[in-house]
Amino acid sequence: MFKAVLIEKTDAGGQVVRQCSLAEDQLPPGDVTVRVEWSTLNYKDALALTGRGPILRAWPMIPGVDFAGTVEHSSHPGLVAGQSVVLNGWGVGERHWGGLAERARVPGEWLIPLPAALSTRQAMALGTAGYTAMLCVRALVKQGVTPKSGPVVVTGASGGVGSVAVMLLSRLGYQVTAVTGHPEEEPTLRDLGASDILPRQALLQLTRPLEKARWAGAVDVAGGAMLAAVCASIQLQGVVTACGLAGGMEFPATVAPFILRGVTLVGIDSVQCPREERLAAWQQLSELIDLEKLDGIVKEIPLSDVQKAASDLLDGHIRGRVVVRLDAP
Ligand code: NAP
Repeated sequence: MFKAVLIEKTDAGGQVVRQCSLAEDQLPPGDVTVRVEWSTLNYKDALALTGRGPILRAWPMIPGVDFAGTVEHSSHPGLVAGQSVVLNGWGVGERHWGGLAERARVPGEWLIPLPAALSTRQAMALGTAGYTAMLCVRALVKQGVTPKSGPVVVTGASGGVGSVAVMLLSRLGYQVTAVTGHPEEEPTLRDLGASDILPRQALLQLTRPLEKARWAGAVDVAGGAMLAAVCASIQLQGVVTACGLAGGMEFPATVAPFILRGVTLVGIDSVQCPREERLAAWQQLSELIDLEKLDGIVKEIPLSDVQKAASDLLDGHIRGRVVVRLDAP
């Protein structure tokens, strides 16, 4: 038996979240069974756990879009029992049982062998947020944005993706402007490597089709009017990576930045990202991340606290990263 969080549909069309014990033979099909040691709480998990967003595609569902642990059984040619692995996305925690449980069973090709420099706890301290931040930074670099191109901006800087993006960009030598709705986070953001702090409201005041060209690149987790303001403030030939919708799904922008400044907008999807890019991103993440600084923004919770933490996250009461302890040795 193993412990899990299970979300079930009610007859009235709502949902109920239970902490329960399940048998291993209830796990879905897959050629690898993992002893999940750590998971984390993502924005998507919080939407699923609170029912505030239509995330789940199958019922009942164990939420948790990522996990790290040790292979317990494997009939997959590339993975053996005892190996440390990490998983992000692929519909896990949405249509396939996810990481908020002590066991998970998945197709082996979804699993990434953990880079040697990271523990399973550190992998989840980074989590899908950290891996997505790395995908954004890699996209900026691939599109030719270098530290010499000019300063870069990160929105939602005190959140999971944002804080790791600030850390990674600063580590690579970029001058980083951190946009935040939490001014009290300024000391933490400066410690992560931000050189400038911009209040969220100040960015939201930039509503013209073209604003002063401030930044060579951007990592945007907010979407909505924030993404529009960022695009309007990008230098000639600059690049914006868009990965989130914390501020809204809409995109109230004009084409001006794209046709008058040659700005490129790159979409980042961590869920269906090809395996080769995942392997490269996790490896680079393990090389770049400052594990001490990472530890400073991590809060650990037991499985029994995930539902309260989910509401807190959506209500904006959580800073940095939350890791969930499962069957950790
Ligand atoms: P998070 O830890 O909750 O952080 C989101 C941050 O956004 C908050 O800390 C806040 O930062 C800012 N924010 C909150 N409400 C906002 C609003 N109304 N307007 C503007 N900014 C707001 O979430 P996360 O894990 O970093 O994820 C961020 C976004 O990326 C989410 O939308 C998530 O779904 C998405 N995401 C996408 C992918 C992908 O594959 N594309 C992967 C992971 C995450 P400040 O207080 O500092 O402003």
